[in-house]
Amino acid sequence: MKTSVDVAIVGGGVNGCAIAYNLARLGCRNVAVYERGCLASGSTGRCAAGVRAQWGTELNCRLSLASLHKFERLPEELDYPDIEFKQGGYLILALSPPEMEQLRKNVALQGTLGIPSRVVTPDEARRIVPHLTAPDLVGATFSPSDGHCNPFKVTDAYSLAARRLGVEINTATEVLGMDVEGQRVVRVRTSRGPVSCGAVVDAAGPYSGVVAAMAGVGLPVYSQRHQILVTEPVAPLQGPMVISFSLGLYCQQTPHGSFITGIGDPHEPKGFDTGHSWEFLEDLAEKIHRLMPLLTRLRIVRQWSGSYNMTPDAQAILGLAGQPENFWLTCGFSGHGLMQSPIVGEIMAQMILGQEPTINVGRLGLGRFERGELLLEPSVV
Ligand SMILES: Cc1cc2nc3c(=O)[nH]c(=O)nc-3n(C[C@H](O)[C@H](O)[C@H](O)COP(=O)(O)OP(=O)(O)OC[C@H]3O[C@@H](n4cnc5c(N)ncnc54)[C@H](O)[C@@H]3O)c2cc1C
Repeated sequence: MKTSVDVAIVGGGVNGCAIAYNLARLGCRNVAVYERGCLASGSTGRCAAGVRAQWGTELNCRLSLASLHKFERLPEELDYPDIEFKQGGYLILALSPPEMEQLRKNVALQGTLGIPSRVVTPDEARRIVPHLTAPDLVGATFSPSDGHCNPFKVTDAYSLAARRLGVEINTATEVLGMDVEGQRVVRVRTSRGPVSCGAVVDAAGPYSGVVAAMAGVGLPVYSQRHQILVTEPVAPLQGPMVISFSLGLYCQQTPHGSFITGIGDPHEPKGFDTGHSWEFLEDLAEKIHRLMPLLTRLRIVRQWSGSYNMTPDAQAILGLAGQPENFWLTCGFSGHGLMQSPIVGEIMAQMILGQEPTINVGRLGLGRFERGELLLEPSVV
């Protein structure tokens, strides 16, 4: 393992690997990733991997649309056979008039940014997903280019491409501490020895707060369990991801035929618990029955959970911490860190190298919390 690197990235999830690849692509090759488990063993490998551009704030629309275009070309860019990117669209349900009103506003905004979404009637929604019943459906929005991918393959693709460009990727290597001298982190202390560094990136997902504390940085983040399950595979039945913000529910059919579905629990305590519960199964079954009763006939193969890394506005923190002056943050993604990773990887690499970022993410800086300038997004699960 190298004992000196220009950039030390803590976390081998999709974001750590995407940043590593983009740094190397832009010419900074003395880069190392430190991952305490195996790649994608954090939130990345536990997520639903939905990719949508249908958002309610301009910045999220821009970031997600740019990422979506990158996902479309990722196999070619990274020379990787298949990331299982299926663009079956996202059907977003409105179960009350106020919810429909918000979705209409979202679609109006999305139209100005080139996102091909549209408002659909309940009947049209049921034509798009024939097993959708949802008696209380008021309307929906649909964008055909949204979709989902395989998060393991995306991370693998980035890490292999990064390695080919000279990045050192260390698995089973935990960052245990950091040495700060003056205004800079000069060394990361890993379970395999110390490494001096020019800059550090905190891409530790649910543990971003713990890693930031090693550099003396306090982050307003916390982690929260989200549960999810996969069913037996069946013949193709559902094209789009079906999602309800008011129920906190999403449901998709993978190319393999399995359904992956999950639901948030508003009463979930903060913490690092990644266990799973019977209550989740009951709650999900009841809500799936309300929306798409046919699916309750499917047998469940496995349930699991992962953590959302949350901020006060459920939006990522991107940029410098301030002090130490070479400590970069890429965390707090809530439930959408996979879908934004292709553009986030590029933007973070550009900022670290002092280049103009493709999209200005100044509004996602850490300072927004102190200034009270939260970026409130109406459309999250
Ligand atoms: C159930 C569920 C469903 C989701 N669905 C979606 C979705 O549909 N679409 C979407 O875009 N997002 C979704 N998300 C969110 C998404 O998973 C995350 O935002 C994203 O994976 C974050 O990636 P990351 O690389 O930043 O973090 P992670 O994947 O968590 O990677 C961080 C890595 O850091 C490592 N680490 C931590 N501390 C240390 C240390 N001290 N030393 C070394 N390594 C360390 C961890 O082992 C981990 O592998 C979902 C999340 C969950 C839990």
